[in-house]
Amino acid sequence: MPMKKLIQPFIDIVFPHTCACCGKGLGDHERYICRWCRVSRFDEAIADDKVILPNNVMFVFSMWQFDKGGYLQDLLHGLKYNFLQEVGEELGYFAGRDFLDKADPDLLQTVEAKSPLLIPVPLHKSKKRTRSYNQSRALARGFSRATGWEVIQDGIIKRVKKTKTQTGLNTKERNENLRQAFVIDHQFISDNYFPIVIDDVFTTGATTFELVNVVANDGSKAGIVTIAKS
Ligand SMILES: [Zn+2]
Repeated sequence: MPMKKLIQPFIDIVFPHTCACCGKGLGDHERYICRWCRVSRFDEAIADDKVILPNNVMFVFSMWQFDKGGYLQDLLHGLKYNFLQEVGEELGYFAGRDFLDKADPDLLQTVEAKSPLLIPVPLHKSKKRTRSYNQSRALARGFSRATGWEVIQDGIIKRVKKTKTQTGLNTKERNENLRQAFVIDHQFISDNYFPIVIDDVFTTGATTFELVNVVANDGSKAGIVTIAKS
């Protein structure tokens, strides 16, 4: 049927039938990532005692351990540069489900005692222009779907400093690179919220810690959630 021939490629673009991670065909209940990749392909993030959390960071939760040169690196790279917005939302959703499953009940209670507010790491406007969307915001939308927690409105926090790439910088250089990179709308009242910063990868924490400094000051605390930890 000629009609079907025309429609099918369009459907394949909107709902691709292969896993964004491994390229295998997807089953009926799989949307963008196959069950094998979601459940079995990646290792749980390993807790690292070497990272000393700043006083205003209550917790860091990462879903998977980063696999340098592997599927996860490719997937997260695709998320940034290939406009895989829906895949980002799906990963955020997985992370949200995983967080609710694994988080300590007391911690969850503390977070939910205030209104949890999801804070995607903002992109500098020059990067947003070339990438057309912010992958952290896609992750946050998916996380919100799993938890029911609100995502901060776009534009309240801005990235005002055009930072260099963090690759190859040591911890001290990364911190210096990120210093005063973000500003928050002074009208925003953070007291009623428990901020949770969302990013793709946690490495030294330089980016997320700097953002926490903007959303949790005056003795309040925040959390950090990422898809991967390297
Ligand atoms: Zn797969």
